Amino acid sequence: DLLVVGSANADLVIGVERRPGAGETVLGSDLAVHPGGKGANQAAAAARLGARTALLARVGDDGHGRLLLDSQRAAGVDTVGALVGGAPTGVALITVDPSGDNSIVVSPGANGRLTPADVRAAGSLFHASRVVSAQLEIPLETVVEVVRSLVPGSRFVLNPSPPRPLPAEVLAACDPLIVNEHEAKVILGDAAGVSDEPEDWARLLLAKGPRSVVVTLGAEGALAASADGVTRVPSVKVRAVDTTGAGDAFTAALAWRLGVGEPLAGAAAYAARVGAATVTKEGAQASFPTAEEVASLCST
Ligand code: ADP
Repeated sequence: DLLVVGSANADLVIGVERRPGAGETVLGSDLAVHPGGKGANQAAAAARLGARTALLARVGDDGHGRLLLDSQRAAGVDTVGALVGGAPTGVALITVDPSGDNSIVVSPGANGRLTPADVRAAGSLFHASRVVSAQLEIPLETVVEVVRSLVPGSRFVLNPSPPRPLPAEVLAACDPLIVNEHEAKVILGDAAGVSDEPEDWARLLLAKGPRSVVVTLGAEGALAASADGVTRVPSVKVRAVDTTGAGDAFTAALAWRLGVGEPLAGAAAYAARVGAATVTKEGAQASFPTAEEVASLCST
């Protein structure tokens, strides 16, 4: 089973002709409210693929929180670990202009109140999970507690997004650390400057302590790196409509396949197909494929 520890946000989206400048008011489209946040996205993506998935997250005691938990349950996610209250549900206020450029303000809200004590109180979820996955839209000290709560034999997968430098204790637990190019550069810091080659970044990241590393490269696929070396994960050619959620779907699929015992390179190849399927549809959670949809993508 997979345990996702992370954020849940309501994405509030308004289409505008032009994004407002300082002191300016613009009129926009009707408001669209979508479930989001990297934790909720990854849990929904995994459950949609058929993984037995639980979410440890915190939402507010409000309408957005209920919407998020309802959408998790509809996707098939076990929400016994979802905590309610302490602050309003996290929201992302998103304006999008006709060219697709956006401006986003995030209020972490309840995500910022998911504490190390909340993690300690969720011990039974850790015992029930072969793989535990996290991101960085919750406090770093909470992620540190996740690492300390892992039971022997379980595996930790981290997508450090939004990226920031990580303590050695967290890096050493990652198997794998999953980064896109931007995240790789932030985690590497000055060391990223020594090369433009993603293969080199993968090696440099591995040298920082993770047991394995996966670098996602958008339409170029991904790289998987471990003590066995660096493997190129082939990309899948699709017509990309909206890349939102691709990284979350990739991470969820990878965590699930590792949990059922697939080796890293094979699991990453499957995750790349899931990422590719995700970019063929609009939206984040609305674009996550089922296992059947992934299979039919491969045969075309
Ligand atoms: P993020 O969304 O975190 O920046 P990427 O853009 O690297 O992550 O996408 C994650 C994965 O999704 C990629 O490794 C790839 O497998 C798949 N993917 C993303 N964009 C495309 C695309 N245009 N065509 C095919 N696959 C894609």
